[in-house]
Amino acid sequence: MIFDAHCDVLYRLQNEKDLHFSKSGPLHVTYQELKNAGAKVQCFAIFLSPSLPPSRRFEAALEQVDLFYERIVKPHADIQVITSKRDIQNLKEHEIGVVLTLEGCEAIQEDLMKLRTLKRLGVCSVGLTWNYANTLADGAMESRGAGLTAFGRQVVEELNQMKIWTDVSHLSEKAFWDVLELADYPVASHSNSYSLCPHPRNLKDDQIKALIQKNSVIGLTFVPFFVKDHPKPSIADFLQHVDYVCGLGGEFHLGFGSDFDGIDETIPGLDSFQGYLQLAELLDKHYSASQVENFLYHNFVRYFPD
Ligand SMILES: [Zn+2]
Repeated sequence: MIFDAHCDVLYRLQNEKDLHFSKSGPLHVTYQELKNAGAKVQCFAIFLSPSLPPSRRFEAALEQVDLFYERIVKPHADIQVITSKRDIQNLKEHEIGVVLTLEGCEAIQEDLMKLRTLKRLGVCSVGLTWNYANTLADGAMESRGAGLTAFGRQVVEELNQMKIWTDVSHLSEKAFWDVLELADYPVASHSNSYSLCPHPRNLKDDQIKALIQKNSVIGLTFVPFFVKDHPKPSIADFLQHVDYVCGLGGEFHLGFGSDFDGIDETIPGLDSFQGYLQLAELLDKHYSASQVENFLYHNFVRYFPD
């Protein structure tokens, strides 16, 4: 069983009209691939192009919500929408759970009504920013590196009340620490270790330790340039991040957030969802069966807000 905390299928379906989730094809994550590789829970992010004018953003987010229900959920009787841990526990053996998440709050502008509406439509995890600054905080690639704004704080408090995840994966370091102080349910859906690969999107050791302390989970990600500062990283390089986070005490706090369909380049062997089969095989060589099950599935489920 696999829990994958991040993919960008909805963005691709919105922007490339000839793509289909139901058919095998160019998407990294398709219905068939999820079935073949033993997926149990897949998160689908709402992600908006940064070039979209502000007046179009909320509607574009709603379009992706519609794609989630029309193209992922409706055509497949064995796909169930997840909005709580109980929903995951209630999945039948042949069923796959799908989770709607929000990658960056650009869509809500400065309007908590829009946030609450997206939650009511099924969003279970909210990243405050993408890479750059918005009305909530600075993202990881924003050179100013500021923390949460007053509105950003309001959003985190709202997420606490709604009992859903606050995703720290794209935040600036300062905003990360502001969130860790405030958030009841922090999560890092797709980030790796900065010590192994010094990219601003990755997490430093003290950040990883703080997430572990807060009962959080870190979804290690297959993005090649977050794995190694090298043109062609390998699966072995990726496994180093698993080792490293375990070494920091994260055995029960690491999972995977592939970023499939959000990346143009992939690690050889991890080039589509089927890559999980090879990853699981390699993990089996280095870890016990129960450890591998925890990494692939149980760690994320354990800390999914109730
Ligand atoms: Zn991302």
